[in-house]
Amino acid sequence: MSVFDLTIAGAARALRAREISAVELAAAYNAAVEALNPRLNAYITPTPELALEQARAADRRLAGGGATPLTGIPIAMKDLFCTEGVRTTAASKILGNFVPPYESTVSARLKAAGAVMLGKANLDEFAMGSSNLTSAFGPVESPWKRHGAEARLAPGGSSGGSAAAVAARIALAATGTDTGGSIRQPAAFTGIAGIKPTYGRCSRFGVVAFASSLDQPGPMARNVEDNALMLSVMSGFDEKDSTSADRAVPDFTQALHRSVKGLKIGVPAEYRLEGTNPEILALWEQGIAWLRAEGAEIRDISLPHTKYGLPAYYIIAPAEASSNLARYDGVRYGLRVEGEDLIDLYERTRAEGFGAEVKRRILIGTYVLSHGYYDAYYLKAQKIRSLILRDFTDAFMEVDAILTPTAPSAAFGLDETMTDPLTMYLNDVFTVPASLAGVPAMSVPAGLSAAGLPLGLQVIGRHFDEETVFTVAAALERAAQFSALPQVRAE
Ligand code: GLN
Repeated sequence: MSVFDLTIAGAARALRAREISAVELAAAYNAAVEALNPRLNAYITPTPELALEQARAADRRLAGGGATPLTGIPIAMKDLFCTEGVRTTAASKILGNFVPPYESTVSARLKAAGAVMLGKANLDEFAMGSSNLTSAFGPVESPWKRHGAEARLAPGGSSGGSAAAVAARIALAATGTDTGGSIRQPAAFTGIAGIKPTYGRCSRFGVVAFASSLDQPGPMARNVEDNALMLSVMSGFDEKDSTSADRAVPDFTQALHRSVKGLKIGVPAEYRLEGTNPEILALWEQGIAWLRAEGAEIRDISLPHTKYGLPAYYIIAPAEASSNLARYDGVRYGLRVEGEDLIDLYERTRAEGFGAEVKRRILIGTYVLSHGYYDAYYLKAQKIRSLILRDFTDAFMEVDAILTPTAPSAAFGLDETMTDPLTMYLNDVFTVPASLAGVPAMSVPAGLSAAGLPLGLQVIGRHFDEETVFTVAAALERAAQFSALPQVRAE
């Protein structure tokens, strides 16, 4: 067995038993990053020296007492979290040389728990995308291959660097952010687990904003237990984020051992979409059968406004993005391209600093917020959002959790680039409704496609009931026994 086979829980035990030191663990992971990152491009900025420094501090803490389950655990930080003194790019040219003078709350909490940061993980530019193809630092390659094929595959997005790093075992776990699916879809594509917590559970302070009413940080890790360990540390009230929830944070690991017996699990009719890969529908049936076998009660439910979720999301998210991204003007920080006057400076900076997808979103967002279109698009989308929330509220009167597939297909090829942005947007069809409603949702690896690629199942829960999500996810994980590993990985 190598150190790369260890989960967080396993590594924490080994660290505490002094079978391995945090410095040894960090050095092994640093070497693996150095060997595999040139190919995978999962990290924009590896931070090997910082990792060793933090590992030395972790060893002192492990020796002196006061260690937490994350002390000495090497993780990747999505490059959307501001990290004091470490370049934070949001995978955009416009922040290409931005070194934040402060730390995001979530990364600060992980740091305080003693986690070791291996580097800043690649993503779609400003977290806009489902493929990692929009990064200004080049795409991430998935460590997975189809059987007998060499085509390079997408790790999903936007947290694709985080997902590829965890799957290829060049990070033990990672942070992600999820606005419309960016934790869950890449987790599904790469055979790992990831949870988007309830909106407000993890602070957004210091996370580069995309769509503020939807953005939510969360963990990505090899299994459900490691997610629970990460989330217990990442969560909690933060007075620096006005939408952060003042709620007690349970020890999420306690939920893993509860039985699903007697739980009511909803299966929404509207998620049986035409065009969904039959393998995915079959896996969904399998998931239903697994939970039923464990004593859960399966109920057919309806989420009637599901089909409006995607169009509403692709109005609300760009609207908020167009407003959030107005701050990148070349004056205060980030890229500056000089111009003849102030307006010219703004225009040149933004024209050069933003990539095509980000510009598309700013244009759409500005359009739907403009006079004469506001009522027709933005206001309408907000009304739909209320209806979608009501769908979930009604459903949760009858059931304790909802089971769906995570994505409508397995990973697609990097070179089978989708030229049509709409096709790419369709990838989020199963993840976006939970984002609009703000409810927690988790993807668990549940099987392989005929071509040998991972497929995920999604568990959706009530607001602030991540515990039931973890209980159901853990039951699925036990039944699925997913143990496949990608072809490219640290050994
Ligand atoms: N793929 C979706 C988008 O492009 C979701 C991205 C995300 O969750 N950050 O907006």
